[in-house]
Amino acid sequence: MAVVERIDAPEAGAQAAEPDGRRSRQRLLAPGTLEPIGEVELATPGDVEAAVERARKAAPEWAALPIRERGRILERAVSVLLERQDEWLETLTSETSKPELEAFAAELLTACDALTFYARRAHRILADQRVPLHLLKSKRLKVRYHPLGVVGIITPWNFPFILSLNPTAQALVAGNAVVLKPSEVTPLSGRLVAELFEAAGLPEGVLQCVVGDGGAGAALVASDVDKICFTGSVETGRLVGEECGRRLRPCTLELGGKDAMIVCADADLDRAAGAAVFGAFANSGQVCLSTERVYVVDEVADVFQRKVVERTSALRQGPGGEADVGAMIHGPQLEIVERQVADAVARGARVLCGGQRNPEWPGLYFEPTVLVDVDHGMDVMREETFGPVLPIMRVRDEDEALMRANDSRYGLSASVFCGDKRRGEQLAGRIESGSAVVNDTGMTPYGIAEAPFGGRKESGVGRVNGEAGLKGYCHTQSIVVDRWGSKDEPLWFPYTKRKERLLRRLARILWGTPLGRFLS
Ligand code: NAD
Repeated sequence: MAVVERIDAPEAGAQAAEPDGRRSRQRLLAPGTLEPIGEVELATPGDVEAAVERARKAAPEWAALPIRERGRILERAVSVLLERQDEWLETLTSETSKPELEAFAAELLTACDALTFYARRAHRILADQRVPLHLLKSKRLKVRYHPLGVVGIITPWNFPFILSLNPTAQALVAGNAVVLKPSEVTPLSGRLVAELFEAAGLPEGVLQCVVGDGGAGAALVASDVDKICFTGSVETGRLVGEECGRRLRPCTLELGGKDAMIVCADADLDRAAGAAVFGAFANSGQVCLSTERVYVVDEVADVFQRKVVERTSALRQGPGGEADVGAMIHGPQLEIVERQVADAVARGARVLCGGQRNPEWPGLYFEPTVLVDVDHGMDVMREETFGPVLPIMRVRDEDEALMRANDSRYGLSASVFCGDKRRGEQLAGRIESGSAVVNDTGMTPYGIAEAPFGGRKESGVGRVNGEAGLKGYCHTQSIVVDRWGSKDEPLWFPYTKRKERLLRRLARILWGTPLGRFLS
């Protein structure tokens, strides 16, 4: 079952354009009800190329504006979002079947914060930087941040608005034009980003949104853009990275995860259980930073498991405003979840609650599921699940928990629950992940705009967000100016024995004496 259906494409995965030049269309069904909610036309590779060209034309004028002025457009976008939040939420919830509160908090509230954060700080973060030189006092160094030009942004379906808006806002405020290709599974929500910036007064052409499938994504990667910012699966990310490598084009790859939670013997078990349940089942588990496996120290495992099951059993699932857990968004993902649970059970796992599609609803609802007696021979402990499943494994002690947490090809985020915060921080620092959290869910870093975000191992390449992320949308240029204007420099021609002796003496003084070491 899929929530998108090709209407007139010759076959799935085929080029989006028919041989006679017609574009193929796609019908969208609400994941919660499987009722049709709209149709979209899919962009062809030619459409993508044309969008990049339009963006390229618009880029110089946009780049020439002062950063603060670009920031004002972001601030106006916040006002538009607040004014039109009901309309925006309606699109988001009908296309994804997320509970309204979840859609509001994770997509719109975070959008307001990200827009405001970059709008107000970009001019300081990207200001020319004078760097005092430690040695060559005869030179002056200035570091400048220039826009790249046109940035291609490719995004997934799990948070179709914020994951499209956040990189777009950063690329724009840094002075780039953007071509955004949101997921074909949630194109209506992705398209809102372009509507939002248009309503906020962004000049025409600076942001282009192309609605298309993987073919359009591949065309964007192969087009004349200056950077690709990709968020999606490891498999697609690898293809994108290969193509960018071949073209020597910078890219960031924000990919999948299999985040671990470690629960120590002295942890506050109520808080740990609450975080595990939220971390595993928020957005129906379709979060790159979901808690996908828990390692709990044996002496507290029974109590922890009981608390998790109590909380999970109390969750309300279904459509409507009062539900805690919505539908899954994409049919093929639900099938992966079913396969992983069946594999785990066949290998000896026990289901403490959930374990199947929710028979009460016609849509893509999978019950929040808690598994125990799991091990690393099972797919559910090794591969990304991206659905509402929480496997809990007992471990002897914290060392075993750490060893198991690091026994993964992924390394996005992680969490540690520990009564002693210092020990918790030490444990967190030993987890091989892009971020780690003590006594909160591993999702927390994404909501903190200052935190550079990204993965280790196969979870990604590069960092987004914060200062480092914003600077990633720029060429960093070092400008060195000679201060004294002497006729020549010690290292210029001609090379003489006398110069060599002087340099050797200088080296001995600078790095071979206490005074020199102090000065250098
Ligand atoms: P996906 O890789 O299937 O698709 C992501 C995007 O890539 C879509 O827009 C798709 O159309 C496009 N695409 C497909 N083939 C392409 C190609 N050959 N070239 C270029 N683009 C192509 O991923 P998905 O199923 O949409 O999203 C779920 C995955 O995203 C999960 O693995 C999840 O963990 C990951 N994700 C990661 C983060 C993060 O920040 N690290 C955030 C959210 C989701």
